[in-house]
Amino acid sequence: MSRSSSLPERPRLDLDPEMSQDEQLEALQEHYRELVRVQNKLEEQLGSAEERRTDLTEQVDRLERENDTLKSSSLYVATAEEITDDGIVVKQHGNNQEVLTEVSPTLREDLESGDRVAINDSFAIQTILDPETDARAQAMEIDASPDVDYDDIGGLEDQILEVREAVEEPLVNAQQFEDVGIEPPSGVLLHGPPGTGKTMLAKAVANQTDATFIKMAGSELVRKFIGEGARLVRDLFELASEREPAVIFIDEIDAIAAKRTDSKTSGDAEVQRTMMQLLSEMDGFEERGEIRIIAATNRFDMLDRAILRPGRFDRLIEVPNPDWDGRERILEIHTEEMDLADDVDMATLATETEGFSGAELASLATEAGMFAIRDQRTTVEMADFESALQKVSEDEDTAGQPIAFA
Ligand code: ATP
Repeated sequence: MSRSSSLPERPRLDLDPEMSQDEQLEALQEHYRELVRVQNKLEEQLGSAEERRTDLTEQVDRLERENDTLKSSSLYVATAEEITDDGIVVKQHGNNQEVLTEVSPTLREDLESGDRVAINDSFAIQTILDPETDARAQAMEIDASPDVDYDDIGGLEDQILEVREAVEEPLVNAQQFEDVGIEPPSGVLLHGPPGTGKTMLAKAVANQTDATFIKMAGSELVRKFIGEGARLVRDLFELASEREPAVIFIDEIDAIAAKRTDSKTSGDAEVQRTMMQLLSEMDGFEERGEIRIIAATNRFDMLDRAILRPGRFDRLIEVPNPDWDGRERILEIHTEEMDLADDVDMATLATETEGFSGAELASLATEAGMFAIRDQRTTVEMADFESALQKVSEDEDTAGQPIAFA
């Protein structure tokens, strides 16, 4: 910010009566030029004084606002439970106290029961809060009843059996484990390439056991919720116990449970804290009741062995890319709703899609459907699948290469 400098000296004119007229004219002209210079200087100073005044006014406004904020008391978070003619019933978070309170007519118009609101000391509703401000809701995907069935998963019969035994049985038949005197596994770890059905497996178990499916992605914890990882892991388990029975699904667990490296950056320390929280939640797990954990990773080689100790993820289930039979079944699943022409031969397609993941087979079916739509047909033909296959392999060839401009 510029400070105003001292004012220029006022120009003086001393005309010597002895001077000739020309000399006097010359002196007057010089005086006039001096006056113009001083006036320019003053205008410049006026400009910067005005700038400074604007800055100071802004500063005063800001300080006044800060002062107001500091003077105003904090608000409490509550949920508007019921909107009645007598007022609004709100339940304060933390102590669950229910109060009948008032709200301004304008706010009342926008208020719906279940909204998060901020209330003051007298419980009057001050604002309606955006549900998105809840980090918990952003970091976790919660599905009270996922709609995936075991039948929707192709080619993973052995894996389905293992998951049912390790996750489903302890949830629906806890007594059996107690009778035999063994601890059911706390969690299972699914590992394998991307898009092979790991998330589907976890959703299917939750569906089968009428459990709430709660998903958290390890990579997001590390990338989006910096500094909050450990707290969110604690919240995750707390939420699961509120929603029992529940299946917790931690995707990309390698992001928080990778082998310790030698580097000592603060990012690593944060990841370490998140992982320690996860381990301690898993260790204190027995008292938790009907909660099971399924984690998934594409990078099994990177995992810290601490996470694989008995009582933690002691069941490791490999979920590989589908074999020929698996590919045929997955293609059948994803074309079930399609109107297929007689020439579509799944066996040939299963042979031609060696190395494809379940997700790639699903998008192959969608692509084939797109070719039929482009041709204004509702029946999907073998030629559409062949075109889709060609497109997918071309996409793969160009993946990672610079785009060429004609
Ligand atoms: P990632 O490791 O990338 O998280 P993932 O193994 O969890 O992947 P899913 O999210 O379960 O894979 O699968 C993605 C989509 O691919 C599914 O929604 C489904 O359409 C299809 N898919 C993958 N595997 C199978 C399968 N075995 N049977 C049927 N569909 C599958």
